[in-house]
Amino acid sequence: MNFTCPYCNHVTTITDPNKYNLWEKVAIKQDNTNYDHDIGVGFLVIACPNQDCKELTITSRLTGSKAVYNPVGKDYIVQDASTLFREWRLVPDTDAKPQPSYIPTQLVQDYTEACKIRDLSPKASATLARRCLQGMIRDFHGIKDKKSLYDEIDALKGVIPTSEWDALDSLRSIGNIGAHMEKDVDLIIDVTSEEANTLIAFIEYLFKQWYVKRHDDEENLRAVKAIAGIKKAQKKPAPEKAE
Ligand SMILES: [Zn+2]
Repeated sequence: MNFTCPYCNHVTTITDPNKYNLWEKVAIKQDNTNYDHDIGVGFLVIACPNQDCKELTITSRLTGSKAVYNPVGKDYIVQDASTLFREWRLVPDTDAKPQPSYIPTQLVQDYTEACKIRDLSPKASATLARRCLQGMIRDFHGIKDKKSLYDEIDALKGVIPTSEWDALDSLRSIGNIGAHMEKDVDLIIDVTSEEANTLIAFIEYLFKQWYVKRHDDEENLRAVKAIAGIKKAQKKPAPEKAE
């Protein structure tokens, strides 16, 4: 099975030594539940194969359950039917992607919290995400003294690449996020979890485009300067001319 580790973002194929699946038929009669199937519950535990990570991801599932004829033993075996009713990620308890330590802590905290409550409370999630977005524009681009997030996005026109600005501008056309952008970012507005998700995806994109890119550029420049320094030191002085 394909797997992207939520801790280290490593994309890999999980094989048996790194996964454990526990599943059991629930011994409650179908008539006593709201489901039109017999049901089962299970846990899937995955250990990240990246040697620098090895973190556990645990998912719980509520599925259908059915008896399947087993021609070898000539009996019926109960199986996890393919019907998946519900699925919960238990560990880690957020979909937030790990962010590097050079991004300001307050921004990463707002982003992580926004991811954590996205499905539980899209309204609260979007509020945190808007605050995070505003914090990024202020911190990274030094934009101050603007009345609203709407004006702050306006102030970025011509400062950031057109494609980035167009993307930010498009946020202003999304349902209630756009409709209330002139208001204070701390105002709680009614949004769907899809809208909250769009904001979160934006923040991840801008973390990468702004902070990570700047950091990588600085690192590359430092490496180039270090190489240039070594070359300069190695350069021998020209031999003195004999009189
Ligand atoms: Zn990992």
